[in-house]
Amino acid sequence: MAAWLRTKAGVWGIPLGLMLGVIAVHFGVHFLLWFSEMAWRGRPPMPDCRRGRCGGDDFFIERQNGQKTYLCRCRFRYRRKGLALIEITPEGKELPFLRWRPFRGWFPDFKL
Ligand SMILES: [Zn+2]
Repeated sequence: MAAWLRTKAGVWGIPLGLMLGVIAVHFGVHFLLWFSEMAWRGRPPMPDCRRGRCGGDDFFIERQNGQKTYLCRCRFRYRRKGLALIEITPEGKELPFLRWRPFRGWFPDFKL
């Protein structure tokens, strides 16, 4: 009886194990894709501007030398560098402004 159960479990164990394995890999891959998308490729919404008066859709996108520059309604300019948002001064200098932390949002960035 015990031997019969073991054989029975063995016979069904293989396809069942394969099926569970395939499902696990399937979900694992999807989770990893979703995770990397969220962590690295997701486009975080624009934060509030330096004065805190603009945000989200208030930014105009300009192209300067092929680079995207975000211009807010108070005439501040920003540029994205990876996960960081750089402020462009009227003299064209780059100042660190904010940095996007995956899953957490925008944080002040004091180093460049
Ligand atoms: Zn603004």
